[in-house]
Amino acid sequence: MATRERAHPTTWWTRLDDGRIRCDVCPRACALHEGQRGLCFVRRRERDAIVLTTYGRSSGFCVDPIEKKPLNHFLPGTSVLSFGTAGCNLACRFCQNWDISKSRDVDTLADRASPTAIAEAAVRFGCRSVAFTYNDPVVFLEYAADVADACRARGVRTVAVTAGYANPDPARELFAHVDAANVDLKAFTEDFYHRVCAGRLGPVLDTLELLVRETRVWVELTTLLIPGLNDGEAELDRMTRWVVERLGPDVPMHFTAFHPDWRMLDRPPTQPATLSRARAIATRNGVRFAYTGNVHDPAGQSTRCPGCGELLIGRDGYEITAWTLDEAGRCRRCGARCPGAFEPAPGDWGSRRLPVRLGA
Ligand code: SF4
Repeated sequence: MATRERAHPTTWWTRLDDGRIRCDVCPRACALHEGQRGLCFVRRRERDAIVLTTYGRSSGFCVDPIEKKPLNHFLPGTSVLSFGTAGCNLACRFCQNWDISKSRDVDTLADRASPTAIAEAAVRFGCRSVAFTYNDPVVFLEYAADVADACRARGVRTVAVTAGYANPDPARELFAHVDAANVDLKAFTEDFYHRVCAGRLGPVLDTLELLVRETRVWVELTTLLIPGLNDGEAELDRMTRWVVERLGPDVPMHFTAFHPDWRMLDRPPTQPATLSRARAIATRNGVRFAYTGNVHDPAGQSTRCPGCGELLIGRDGYEITAWTLDEAGRCRRCGARCPGAFEPAPGDWGSRRLPVRLGA
């Protein structure tokens, strides 16, 4: 059923001398004439201002394990209410959510969802957090911020799953409201970002430094390893050295397996050995928590104590199989603190995935 668009006012824009209005949310700097939309398709010039057309509308809701975002150091074992809207400001040829992120069809937005309704649904479904995922919250930051505030008022935390492709001030605004982020570090070359994502690496690195240095957001990184494109030893060596030097050794990294999708059907799936090699490179360079993802690899997905090597959190897929943290999030054997946000005991949501309607 078609849903009429709602125009929500925004503030991140500048009037240009030539009569166009520039959107200042992300480095694309779309300069728009009346009625035109930006590359993300969801921010549009209307009545001499830029509006957000997806405020209060969602592409669907699902209760997931928090480990699926992926976040391994943020309320392990708990469930998260996941949702997205439509549109994206990158154009990754390997996109795994292309039906949503590249949607230009308002019919994709099936659920009407006020910030209050989402926060109350999270409480009702027993979710400890709400995730902005499926598409990038940077393009719907006003809606994400309001949802985050409504969640905070009810003791529910929020998670941004993002490519980090934002200008610094809008990024500061978005991340002032959320509690955790998983940021895609898609590769470590400008060439990859340019050719494969139609974007730039530099602004993503700036966002990561901003997040770690200026905010209290818990941050984890994800790199989807695509055979022959971003899985070279030298590139992963440079990437993981940069992470340790600029973000610190405690920012977890997830190396996940690619499956052919969207406009990239000519590459084979990632071999598990490639993920293990990436993890070994990261560990060698000082990353304390390096994980594999999208494959069955209990050893590569479990958390070990940075002090004594003890198994702190065992995982098999999205199931927690061992837990030796004390109530303060420290190793029971040596007392070393495990960085992240932990509760006295893990959740027991397991690997379930439960699609939900907000009215249900
Ligand atoms: S958020 Fe959208 S409209 Fe704004 S600059 Fe980025 S792509 Fe363009």
